[in-house]
Formats: sequence, structure tokens, C-alpha cells
Amino acid sequence: MVESDSKVSMPVADADRDEPLGAASAMVSVGKDHGIDTNNISHAALDVIRDLQQAGFTAYLVGGAVRDLLLEGVPKDYDIATDATPEQVRGVFRRCRLIGRRFRLAHVFMHGQLIEVATFRGDAGDDDQLIGKQGRILRDNTYGNEQEDALRRDFTANALFYDPLSDNIIDYAGGLDDIEHRRLRLIGDVSTRYREDPVRMLRAVRFAVSKKLDLHPKTAAEIPVLAHLLQHIPPARLFDEFTKLMLTGHAFNTTCMLVKTGLWEQLFPDVPLELEKDHKLKASAVLTQALKNSDARVAMGLPVTSGFLLAAMLWQPLQKRLMQMSGNDDNELLNMQQASDEILFLKPRPVGMPKRVTAMCREIWLLQHRFQRTRGKRPRRLMEEQRFRAAYDFLLLRTIDEPELKPLADWWTYVQTLGEKKLNAALREGFNP
Ligand code: ATP
Ligand code: MG
Repeated sequence: MVESDSKVSMPVADADRDEPLGAASAMVSVGKDHGIDTNNISHAALDVIRDLQQAGFTAYLVGGAVRDLLLEGVPKDYDIATDATPEQVRGVFRRCRLIGRRFRLAHVFMHGQLIEVATFRGDAGDDDQLIGKQGRILRDNTYGNEQEDALRRDFTANALFYDPLSDNIIDYAGGLDDIEHRRLRLIGDVSTRYREDPVRMLRAVRFAVSKKLDLHPKTAAEIPVLAHLLQHIPPARLFDEFTKLMLTGHAFNTTCMLVKTGLWEQLFPDVPLELEKDHKLKASAVLTQALKNSDARVAMGLPVTSGFLLAAMLWQPLQKRLMQMSGNDDNELLNMQQASDEILFLKPRPVGMPKRVTAMCREIWLLQHRFQRTRGKRPRRLMEEQRFRAAYDFLLLRTIDEPELKPLADWWTYVQTLGEKKLNAALREGFNP
């Protein structure tokens, strides 16, 4: 039973327990204890919760938003959980759309913001839950009560409910204690929960790195054992996770942890990476620098793309293939086209790259040889290419592994600074090493 009396004191959770606390021991933490500042919550989310509660429903802020409020202040999006059915939610709000066929969610538009409202979900038992051979949940679409909803979530830190009106946090899984100790712990039996949804292993790495949390020993230990289960995940879902892992400012550390846990080789079997004894990543200089640059760009608020990262990741396999083809190197461009197509399209990869991503990667590679042509009209045409900037950045990356390219790269850096007249003169002369 959950008490919402603000005088409730907070039981101390047992840090070594393996199972969630369960209904009898659900904890309520009051404002002065947990320290969430409601000023950090968007007005839209607050108003949606208030409107639902005023209509007689239970409604909480839930998931990543509560975790982020406790860890670092301001969440990036807001999920709300409620006991109202989607139809009842639609009855409360003027601007609301129901999405999803099997499990319906309500999208409420409030003050120009989209807030996702989900009805509490439960564990359906064997009837409605379709379990695959490896224990993967293929379908689960049953409503439940708030405790069931908390316990079907992945990590204890992601299973907290926050009621901003009473300023209480309701904790069914021991997440508050884990957050206080900066621990990430899977709810329930670790092996079962990873088997139900192996993507949770990737989420464990993502939250551990990006939120600076330590994986609880059991949550960590099962990952190398079960990493192979990622083989059963649809490539498009792995791409979604890949972008969250690699394009959000922690690509380098994430890659190290993916390698360490054996997840990397499941995602990119053709990009073998290792960790050295001192846990340093053993990767090509191009890839290492690309990961670090990508993180630096995110930190500066600059855009990063998966196409560029893919080009850096697969550059070494591409070079290897080109070497094998070097018997017939009379047409460098043709070889490059053929090798690119083989690497990118011949075998389906676990992480399904959308066409726009592989197309960008291929263009970056194919434009590389055009940097060699520095005289006449060709450089100008190259500079007008849509992917010129990405290809030029890639040329700069390559100079770490191929220092002989440095003078050429410097020339390209220089000509981009020139006005029309000086550029014409420079292009008449071309690059003279
Ligand atoms: P972020 O949005 O920063 O990536 P998040 O925790 O909000 O982090 P979402 O993918 O938005 O992640 O999911 C919202 C919530 O849904 C999670 O906090 C968790 O409670 C639950 N959830 C998401 N994915 C899973 C999963 N694979 N298994 C169980 N619960 C999940
Ligand atoms: Mg989220």
C-alpha cells in the first residue's frame, strides 16, 4: 500500500536485495527528502497531470524524466502514467490523439508541447503475453495497476512515479536508494529481464555511461553471457538504439563499454575492436578520433550524423577490401565503388542502416579521390557537392593515419577561406606539394 501522507518516513532500502520491494514495502519520499525542484518540470507536463487528477484519475510523471530530475535537473522529455484508459484521457483534453494499434497511447498537446500519456500496464501472464523461444516478449498489451506498471519497467531508477501536486515520489522497486548510490539495477531476475528484451542490455550501457551510473554487479555480469541475444532484435530497432548510443555526446566511452561487455561484436561483427590491458580502446586512429570529434561536436551543440560515423567505422574494412582488390587498380574509382557496395550492401548488418545513412557514407568515401584533383573546374564542382563538408571533414580525419595527406588537406582548408578572385588564381595553379 502506498501512503501519500507527507509525514511518511522513508524506509532504508536494502542495497543487496535482488528482488523489487513489492507492494507492502513501496516507499513514499516527500519533497524535503528527495529534493526535486518542480521549477525544472515543464508547465505542459504539470498541467496534464493536474488536469487528469482533477478529472478524478491518478497521474504521475514517470520514467526517464523522474530519474533525470533526481540525477541532474532538467529532463529532455516527459512521460506520464495514469489509471485512465486512453479513451478517458482523450475525454479530458481538447488536443489529444490516440496512437498505436496494439497498445494505445495518448499524445496530449499542451502549450505547444507533446506529452505522452500511457495507461498503467501490467504483466499479462501467459494469456496475452506472447513469449518467443529465447524468452523474448513479443507482445504485451494488458493494462495493470500502478505497482505492476512500475515493476515491468527496466531499471529501478526508471520505475519511479512522481506526483508533482503532492510532491511525493512513489518507489516500488528501490530506485531512490539506487539513484542515491548512483547505481543502475535491473528490476527482478536479471537473466529473465534481459531475455524478455535484450535491448535492455544496450540501455544499461547507455544509461551507465551517459548518466555516470555504476551497473549493479548482477546487472553487469549477465550482459557478456546474453549479448548474443541481440541477434534476434529487428535491425531497425537496433539502429534506433545505435543513434541514442552514439549521437548523444558519449560515443567514445559508450564504444569502450560496448566492447568490454561483448555487445559491440554483436552490433558490428565486421569492425573488430578490443580493449587493451589498461582498458584503452584499440581502434584505428580514424575511428577513435571520429568518436571523440562526435562527442565534442555534441558538447558544442553542433550536429552529428550516423552516416559520418559509419564512414569512419567501416573505413578500415573498406581499406582491407581495397587492398585485396589491388591486383586490378587501373580504375581506382571503380574499385572504390565496388568495395563500398560490398561492405555496405552485400551482407545484412545487425544494425540496420537506413538508406540515407548508407548513401551518405558511400558518398563520403567516393568523394575522397576527388580531393586529388586540385586544378581547373573540378575543385569548384567538388566544393558545390552536397556532401563536400562531410567529405572534407573526413579527409581531415584521414590525415591522422595518413600524414602524407596533410599538405593536401591544408590546401583544401586554405582555398575555402579565399574570396572569388584569389580562389580563381589558386585553382589555376592547383595544389603543389
Ligand atoms: P531517455 O528518454 O533519456 O532515453 P527514458 O528512460 O525516458 O530515457 P524511454 O525509452 O523514453 O527511456 O522510456 C521511458 C520509460 O519506459 C523508461 O524510463 C522505462 O521505465 C520504460 N522502458 C523503456 N524501454 C523499456 C524496456 N525495453 N523495458 C522495460 N521498460 C522500458
Ligand atoms: Mg524518455
